Amino acid sequence: MKPIYLDNNATSQVAPEVMEAMLPYFHELYGNPSSMHSFGGQVMKQIRKAREQLGALLGASPEEIIFTSCGTESDNAAIHSALASCPDKRHIVTSRVEHPAVRALCAHLATQGYRLTELPVDGEGRLDMEHYKRALTPDTAIVSLMWANNETGVVFPVEKAAEIARERHILFHTDAVQAVGKIPINLANTHIDMLSLSGHKLHAPKGIGVLYLRKGTKFSPFLIGGHQERGRRGGTEATPSIIGLGVAAELAQKKMDIENTFVKELRDRLEKSILEIIPNSKVNGDRASRLPNTTNISFEFVEGEGILLLMDEYGICASSGSACTSGSLQPSHVLRAMGIPFTMAHGSIRFSLSVYNTDEEIDFVIEKLPPIIDTLRSMSPYWKVSESRVRCQE
Ligand code: PLP
Repeated sequence: MKPIYLDNNATSQVAPEVMEAMLPYFHELYGNPSSMHSFGGQVMKQIRKAREQLGALLGASPEEIIFTSCGTESDNAAIHSALASCPDKRHIVTSRVEHPAVRALCAHLATQGYRLTELPVDGEGRLDMEHYKRALTPDTAIVSLMWANNETGVVFPVEKAAEIARERHILFHTDAVQAVGKIPINLANTHIDMLSLSGHKLHAPKGIGVLYLRKGTKFSPFLIGGHQERGRRGGTEATPSIIGLGVAAELAQKKMDIENTFVKELRDRLEKSILEIIPNSKVNGDRASRLPNTTNISFEFVEGEGILLLMDEYGICASSGSACTSGSLQPSHVLRAMGIPFTMAHGSIRFSLSVYNTDEEIDFVIEKLPPIIDTLRSMSPYWKVSESRVRCQE
């Protein structure tokens, strides 16, 4: 059974064009791009082309692109570099809803003597910009704020936040792993100093990422080794993946319109139908400022994992906003930071679409999901109590 894949914020399928571009670099053109011979040299030319393709997608110049192994490495490299470049400053500003690639690193740094401010968000997952301004101090070494949230799709005003950081001479990093390829980005017009992206979220393979480093920004390498990436990231280049990511970047640029029309319409239709058909369901996150492909919906009085298991029987893939840790279902840190009540947060599901989804797939989910929720609610003592309460009020 071909899955109905609505979990593209977790990872995405490698585009056929990307696969095709990568294949020769495994068995025909396998030279080391750093070699003196022309067999390796021709590979270096292709890496240069990939750097240009990434630059074009981001509004950056090719020298500002550093290839890494993933989004997590890029996030770690950016934050480590900022702290190493400003050794007298000991304060980090970030948010409560960052991905663990930033959040867990910052929590670790807090145990090493750095002061950490995690900005709160409101019930819609939005930042309070006045609170942000107040958090910045002369001791702040770096601000790291995500461009778009992986669970809710909420988009932060990072361009404005970067401008404010620049006025105070503070380095600004954004984790744009979920934003790149889904919404237009033009770094040339911003004050963003560093940006992270990850190949596997935009139809390139897993294990390849980019750290954008604005020209002139002080940098201290995270991976110290060979002279690759102009001494900014040691390690022999992952040639096939870099070339694949270049093609994926070009495709993303071409398909940006489809992402913001066709994909957005599919997402909106799915969301609207669910809210109309299924009582006590609610969208989490600011619908006015959101990625076009993501919806996070809570179904009151059911558990997300139950929904996932029953959808899985029909081949429908999505994610839940709660994770089973040490036997108890814990709502995610994002939904908790938004103050979503437990009865809602437990039953939250993230659907994240891509250009490869179809109208028929969305119809199928709209048909199968309501009876799944009914089945689970019929087994939920909390739902029965709430239903009888409603009947008493009528
Ligand atoms: N940042 C965000 C917002 C993400 O969604 C993810 C992955 O889910 C990452 C960072 C980590 O990226 P990678 O899996 O490439 O390490």
